[in-house]
Amino acid sequence: MAKIPDATITRLVHYLRALERMEKAGQLRTSSDELARASGVTAFQVRKDLAYFGSYGTRGVGYTVPVLRRELAQILGLGRRWRLAIVGMGRLGQALADFYALSESYELVAGFDVSPEVIGRQVGPFTVEPVEKLPQIVPESHVEIGILTVPEAAAQQAAEALVAAGVRGILNFTPAILKLPEQVAIENADFMAGLSRLSFFMLNPRWREEMMG
Ligand code: NAD
Repeated sequence: MAKIPDATITRLVHYLRALERMEKAGQLRTSSDELARASGVTAFQVRKDLAYFGSYGTRGVGYTVPVLRRELAQILGLGRRWRLAIVGMGRLGQALADFYALSESYELVAGFDVSPEVIGRQVGPFTVEPVEKLPQIVPESHVEIGILTVPEAAAQQAAEALVAAGVRGILNFTPAILKLPEQVAIENADFMAGLSRLSFFMLNPRWREEMMG
């Protein structure tokens, strides 16, 4: 398989959302032009991104909305539910817990903390557990993805504990640069970087126009 650019995967998520909206509205067919407009990219980009994964559209006919929606969901691993645990049930951890509780593809099954103020708190279907219990609870609960929302200084150790317990994917909200075995997928989520990009482009509007082509 050709090496797939990171940005392609992000755009697939945007195409999937656009297709979900179309399917909800009862729309049966779409085109690369329409998908491009709905996702803020060019039609060429849509065709190029989808071509990495096979040939989906028919020239002159376009794409069947439910079929492409299902294919993209499958490619993105959303054809099943993933079990998540959050380490660090502070402000961000609790906010994310509320958010993930609404998700169809992800099931939050455990949360860990070190603070006696937080441990024992009921969050949706589970009770926040002391982090010492992570090595036991993560394999027992078949957790596959760990979400890191601890202070930066605690991040590497918490990530290593998750990996030692069998987790193979980490969504890292901390500013720490994690060093983990190669087979562990790490995704860094950074709202602050988004704000800095925004202020940069507000000061330099021409750069944004040039990047958009
Ligand atoms: P917070 O202090 O409210 O929560 C941190 C929680 O982690 C606390 O409940 C604390 O008791 C717990 N904790 C500390 N050490 C731990 C350990 N070893 N194991 C388990 N739990 C532990 O902080 P917050 O505002 O929720 O921020 C959490 C993290 O998210 C920080 O690293 C912060 O920098 C980061 N953050 C990132 C973004 C972003 O844009 N990515 C935005 C906000 C916060």
